[in-house]
Amino acid sequence: MSQSPRQQLLNDIDVDVAIIGAGYTGLWTAYYLKQMNSKLSIAIIESEYVGFGGSGRNGGWCSAFLPMSPTEMAEQHGKDAMQFIQREMFATIAEIAKITELEGIDCDFYQGGTITSASSTAHIQRVKDYVAQWRASGFDESVIRWEGADEIETRMRTVKTYGGMYSPHCAVIHPWKLVQGIARVLEARGVTIYERSRVLNVQQRRVQTTCAAVNARWVVQAVESFASQQRRTKRSIVPLYSLMVATEPIPSHIWSEIGWSNRETFADGRNMVTYAQRTADNRIAFGGRGAPYHLGSRISPKFDVNEKIHDQLRETVRETFPLLGDVKFTHQWGGPIGASRDWHAFANVDHKTGLCSGGGYVGDGVALSNLIARTLVHQMLNNESPLTRSLLVNHRARAWELEPIRWIGINGLLKLTEIADARERRSGAPSSRIIAMRDSFLG
Ligand SMILES: Cc1cc2nc3c(=O)[nH]c(=O)nc-3n(C[C@H](O)[C@H](O)[C@H](O)COP(=O)(O)OP(=O)(O)OC[C@H]3O[C@@H](n4cnc5c(N)ncnc54)[C@H](O)[C@@H]3O)c2cc1C
Repeated sequence: MSQSPRQQLLNDIDVDVAIIGAGYTGLWTAYYLKQMNSKLSIAIIESEYVGFGGSGRNGGWCSAFLPMSPTEMAEQHGKDAMQFIQREMFATIAEIAKITELEGIDCDFYQGGTITSASSTAHIQRVKDYVAQWRASGFDESVIRWEGADEIETRMRTVKTYGGMYSPHCAVIHPWKLVQGIARVLEARGVTIYERSRVLNVQQRRVQTTCAAVNARWVVQAVESFASQQRRTKRSIVPLYSLMVATEPIPSHIWSEIGWSNRETFADGRNMVTYAQRTADNRIAFGGRGAPYHLGSRISPKFDVNEKIHDQLRETVRETFPLLGDVKFTHQWGGPIGASRDWHAFANVDHKTGLCSGGGYVGDGVALSNLIARTLVHQMLNNESPLTRSLLVNHRARAWELEPIRWIGINGLLKLTEIADARERRSGAPSSRIIAMRDSFLG
C-alpha cells in the first residue's frame, strides 16, 4: 500500500496529457513526455494507488524477451522488424539501469541474466528447440545459448538439471520500489498523480472519473489487464492470473550450498510458466500461472489468492530446492496479467482522437512497458524515431471470443498444459502431441 494516500481528483481540470493508470506504462509515458517536453502539463489518474496493478507486485524479471516469439514476429512482420525490436529490447534493460541510477531510484536492479533449466529429460528437447529458434532468427551464442548440466549447476544447485538455456539479457528488480521510485521522480517534475479516482469513460478528450473530469489533448490508456473491465475494450484483453510465493530470508549457510550468487532469474523447463528470482534480501520469490480464468473476465482481489495453486507453488519450490530444509514461506500473492488474442503487445496512438494505449504484455511487462512508453511518446510528439515504425505500433489483435466460449477455451488450454506436465513427470518424455494440440487451439 502507498504510505500516504495521494489526493483524489475532486474538481475538473485541463491538462495537455491525461494518463489513466499509475503502473509502469503510465509512469514511464509521463517520464519520457516530460523529458522530451518539460512544459507539458500531465495528470495521472489512478483508481486505487500507485503500483496497485502488476507493476507493484510482479516477479521482478526485467527481461528483454517479448511475449511474441522471434519466429512469430518474423513471420508476421519480417525478419528486419523482428531483429530491430529485439535489439531495442536488449537496449531497454540498459536504459532502465541507466535511468534508475541517474534518478536515484533504488530498486535492487541487478543484471545476472536468465536460466531456463531442463529439470526433467522431457524438457531437454523443448529448451534446445527454443535456443535453436533464436539461432535461426539470427542471434548468436552471446545472446542466448544452451549450457550443459555442469555449467548450470555452477550457477545454482537445484534438485536436478540436464542443462538449460542461459541468456544475459535479463535483470532483477524490486517491483514496488521501482514503481514508487518513478512516481516520486515524476512528482518532483510537476506531474500530478491522483489516487482513488476511477475513470468511468473517455469521450472526446474528456476523461470522466467518479467525482470530476479531466479535459486533455491526449488521453493515454495505461491500464493493462484492467482494459477488460471497460465496455469499449472488454474483448481486447483478457486478465489471466499469475500467482507468487516468497520464502523468509534464507540463511547464508544454505545459500552457500545453493549458490545462485549471480542472481539469474530462474524458470523450470515445464510447459506451465514458472518464474523465480533470488531477491536482494535473500529470499526466493517464485511464481507461476495455472490459476483459473474467471467467467466474463472478472478481476477481484479474492482471485489474488488461490490456496490450491499457492500450495502447488510452495511444493514446487521445496521440490526444486531440497536444500531449503525447513525454511518458511512468509508471503503469497497474485494478480492479473493482460493478454490480447494474439499474445502481441501494442503501442497505439490515434492522432485524430488523441487516444493512445499501450499494453498486451502477457506477464512480460516490466521492461517492455518502458519500450512501449517511449514508442507512444515518440508518436505523440511526432518525433522522427525508428520506434514510430516498429512492429508494436498500431497493432490491433482480433477480439477474444464471446463467453462462455472464452471461459471454456482458456481454462481448457490451462488444463491441457497441466495434463502435459503431469504426463512428462510420469514418463520423462515430452508431451509433444498435447502441446501441439494446445497451440493449434490458441492459433
Ligand atoms: C503476480 C505477477 C507477476 C508478474 N511477474 C512479472 C515479471 O516477473 N516480469 C515481467 O516482465 N512482468 C511480470 N508481470 C506483469 C507486469 O507486472 C505487468 O505487465 C506490468 O506491470 C504492467 O504495467 P502497466 O502499467 O501496463 O499495468 P498495471 O501495473 O496493471 O497498472 C494499471 C493501473 O491502472 C489502474 N486502473 C485500472 N482501471 C482503472 C480505471 N478505470 N481508472 C483509473 N485507473 C485504473 C490500476 O489500478 C493499475 O494501477 C507480473 C504480473 C503479476 C500480476
